[in-house]
Amino acid sequence: MAWRCSGATNAELITNLFNNGLIKDARVKDAMLKVDRAHYAPNSAYEDSPQYIGHAATISAPHMHASAAESLLAHLTPGSRVLDIGSGSGYLTAVLAHLVGPSGSVVGIDHIQPLVDLADANMRKSESGREMLASGQVRFVKGDGRLGWKEGAPYDAIHVGAAAAEHHEALVEQLKAPGRLFVPVEEGGQQYIFVVDKKGDGRVVRERLFAVSYVPLTDAPGA
Ligand code: SAH
Repeated sequence: MAWRCSGATNAELITNLFNNGLIKDARVKDAMLKVDRAHYAPNSAYEDSPQYIGHAATISAPHMHASAAESLLAHLTPGSRVLDIGSGSGYLTAVLAHLVGPSGSVVGIDHIQPLVDLADANMRKSESGREMLASGQVRFVKGDGRLGWKEGAPYDAIHVGAAAAEHHEALVEQLKAPGRLFVPVEEGGQQYIFVVDKKGDGRVVRERLFAVSYVPLTDAPGA
């Protein structure tokens, strides 16, 4: 798909992804148009492919980011509170921030300090990014995302950008009711996307979607 869905500019990349059905929702398209992927991917920013960003991390392909945002979309409305675990480059954190607007907030958490700093620096490359950091609409913190981030809980939506070895209950606990968790989890040597819904009455419903390949959600290096 990459050959059809690349572009010479961010607008071309996003428009091509939309025209080829890899971005399905117009709100997600608009949010992705507002975030220049070249501020987050060190090279081939306008290709629909993952790129290495250092520290054993990659920025996911834009069609994967679109799919994650679309899975969470019902819980990404103006004013929503979101946690982006394994924020890496900060790209998806920025897209999520555009979806929840100035009355919402997004916390990006990563366990590698240089990546926390990278995400912050990447966002500062644009006026809107600087404003979102200054207002507190977006913040990047360092921590073990397997524990969530209690200080900002409860969340309408939690996205996990690395594959967990198990289902971490702390993440479900930190969801609002209703709220939704998007998380890749390894099962039997294969990673799958799971969507976990906490319903309005507190019931938790877990659904396994498709197989994926993510960076593992691990102990911090040297821990
Ligand atoms: N959404 C990011 C994905 C980065 S790759 C992007 O597209 O840029 C996955 C990230 O998860 C890496 O940055 C890695 O440092 C982070 N990570 C891995 N285990 C973690 C943990 N236990 N807590 C927090 N972050 C973790």
